[in-house]
Amino acid sequence: MTSKPAYSGVCNLCGAVGEFAFGEAPAFLIARAYACPECDAPLRFRNEAAAIVEVFGGGAHLSMRSLIADPNFAGKAVYNVGIGGHTRKWLARLEDYTQSNYVVDAEPGEIRGQHRNEDLLRLSFGANRFDLVTSSHVLEHVPDPAKAFSEVHRVLRPDGVHIFSVPFPWPPRPKSVTRCAIIDGEVVHDLEPVYHESPGGEPSLVFTDFGLDVLDVLSEVGFAAEIRRPSMAIDKAYRNSVIVCRPLARTIPRPDRVLRRLPEDLTRRSINARRYSKRKLRGARRRAGVLKRQLRSA
Ligand SMILES: [Zn+2]
Repeated sequence: MTSKPAYSGVCNLCGAVGEFAFGEAPAFLIARAYACPECDAPLRFRNEAAAIVEVFGGGAHLSMRSLIADPNFAGKAVYNVGIGGHTRKWLARLEDYTQSNYVVDAEPGEIRGQHRNEDLLRLSFGANRFDLVTSSHVLEHVPDPAKAFSEVHRVLRPDGVHIFSVPFPWPPRPKSVTRCAIIDGEVVHDLEPVYHESPGGEPSLVFTDFGLDVLDVLSEVGFAAEIRRPSMAIDKAYRNSVIVCRPLARTIPRPDRVLRRLPEDLTRRSINARRYSKRKLRGARRRAGVLKRQLRSA
C-alpha cells in the first residue's frame, strides 16, 4: 500500500487541532481513513459534521461540540437515520433527537431490542416534524431512493435541511446505476451484488451507485440540493460526498401569478446570457420545470 501524507487541521466533531493521517485502512475502507487523533472520527463523519456545522452554525462554529452548545441549535428537532457513526454521537446529546434502525420484518415506529425501527420508504413520523434529517452511507442501501427522498421531504419542516452522505467516486458518474431492485418482494440483481458492512457488522446490500443525476431526482421530489466534496482538497481519491438538500417552497402559487412569474424566457436562448451565469440559468430552468410540473398536477 502506498502511504499517503497526513494533514493538519481541526476536527469538525470534537474541535481538536491535530494531524490527520490516512492510517492503515485499505483502499476499499477509505471512508474510514484520516481518523481524528482525539475522537477517532474518520474524515467521512467529519465531512458530514462540517456541512451540518456550516448550515446551522452560520459561520460562528467550527465543530459539532461547539454547535450543540449554541442555544439556537440546541432546540432543533433532529432525526438521524441509523444507529452508528460519530456524527450521531454528538447529535444524540440534543433534547429532541431521534434515531432509528432498520429491521426488515418490524413495523415503522416499532421498538425492537433497544432501537426504534423505521423504513425510509414509509416513515412513521408526521409531516413537518424535523429541522434536520441526516444519514451516513444509508441511501445507497434503500431500494427506492426517490421514494425515500420524498418521505424525508414530508417529515422535514419547510425550513429544515436534509444532509446525507453516500459513496461518490471521482470523477463522478453522470448517471446513477441501479444495481438491483425488489420485484414482487424478491431482490433481483442487475449487477453483481455489492455489500457494505452495517454498524451491527452484518452485510448490507447496495441498491444504487449514485451519480450526478441524484440532483435531478432530489429536484423532482421538491429539494434544492447541492453536492459537497470537502475532502477533495485532501485526497482526490476519497470516495465520499455530502449532499445538502433544502425543501423548495411547498405552497403551489396561484396559476395566474405563476404564469407571470414563470421564467419562460429563461428557458429560451433569447436570454441575455451575459447577465446570467450558467449556474443561475440552470437553477432557474430547474425551478421553472418544477413549477410547470406542479401546475400540471394541480
Ligand atoms: Zn475529533
